[in-house]
Amino acid sequence: MGRVWNFSAGPAALPQAVLEQAQRELLDWNGSGASVMEQSHRGKRFIAMAERAEADLRELLDVPDDYAVLFLQGGATQHFAQIPMNLAAPGDSADYVVSGHWSEKAANEAMPYLRVNVAASSKADGYLHLPRRGAWRLDPAAAYVHYTPNETIHGVEFHDVPEVGDVPLVADMSSNILSGPLDVRRFGLIYAGAQKNIGPSGLVLMIVRRDLLERAGRPMARIFRYAEHAAAGSMLNTPNTWGWYLAGLTFGWLKAHGGLAAMGERNRAKAALLYAAIDGSDGYYRNPVDAASRSRMNVPFTLHDAALDAAFLVESEAAGLLALKGHKALGGMRASLYNAVPLEAVQALVGFMRDFARRHG
Ligand SMILES: *Cc1c(COP(=O)(O)O)cnc(C)c1O
Repeated sequence: MGRVWNFSAGPAALPQAVLEQAQRELLDWNGSGASVMEQSHRGKRFIAMAERAEADLRELLDVPDDYAVLFLQGGATQHFAQIPMNLAAPGDSADYVVSGHWSEKAANEAMPYLRVNVAASSKADGYLHLPRRGAWRLDPAAAYVHYTPNETIHGVEFHDVPEVGDVPLVADMSSNILSGPLDVRRFGLIYAGAQKNIGPSGLVLMIVRRDLLERAGRPMARIFRYAEHAAAGSMLNTPNTWGWYLAGLTFGWLKAHGGLAAMGERNRAKAALLYAAIDGSDGYYRNPVDAASRSRMNVPFTLHDAALDAAFLVESEAAGLLALKGHKALGGMRASLYNAVPLEAVQALVGFMRDFARRHG
């Protein structure tokens, strides 16, 4: 089988041009006679590549100088714990907005390190909409406010940045970073596992306002301290060199394709096409999320009869449409439409869905 249209939620599709470049360069990277994975992160070639990747990211997102960009490890999950360790002292409290699986997990993982105030939650409504803004109980004395702009499993997304006053806003952007324009200045800290919209798993991108790195926090090993990673240029220990390299290729690809404004427009069109097909199917397909809260990146949907799920998955795969099975918590289907998924993939999916509905009436 050749390349398929890949709707995986993560690790997810990468731009084909990025994979082809990595393939071309695999055995002899940059005239070095070895692959990028086989050489020192302290070498001239690697340092130049790493600096270019950071510069390209800063250009894409217009990251101000008073923010550090870090290339870390541990997955987003490790940073659910490490963020409270760094940004709060024992006894402090932080506000958590709970809008789905991942923000709930982030709140739970923070609990050993500070007092977690669930400032808002839509759990009682099955996470079918964003927590209603008027009902948030934000604490002006909180160490930070944490939220998850895009819930990868429940398919709900914030379409603007919440106003939280002077308290630093912390965002888990694992599944929507670089999916459109973003005003970094609105945030204290942004973090993202790479494997949705950036590159391979094992890399975490973090953008953090430098003054927050000075917070005392608590005694901890240097390896857990973001300030140490920033001071060492993310080379406190051996970084994920392959992940950093691929992230850099993706940043270059984004720049070559019109940057984040163009990407945001593409993503909007892709999501609109799929939601229109679902909503226009006379109930054959259904997405239960409140229309104003729907995600552009992750679209969960069900068939009108769950007995058809198995046939849908077998036939879609045979049609070259990969990884449409929904998360086990929700069942049904999920199509993830990250940056590397082209409009043609969504057109192929929508065509298949119409055809499937006709054949299975
Ligand atoms: C995938 C995902 C995570 C978990 O990432 P890991 O790298 O597996 O720890 C956390 N948050 C969000 C929003 C995600 O989509």
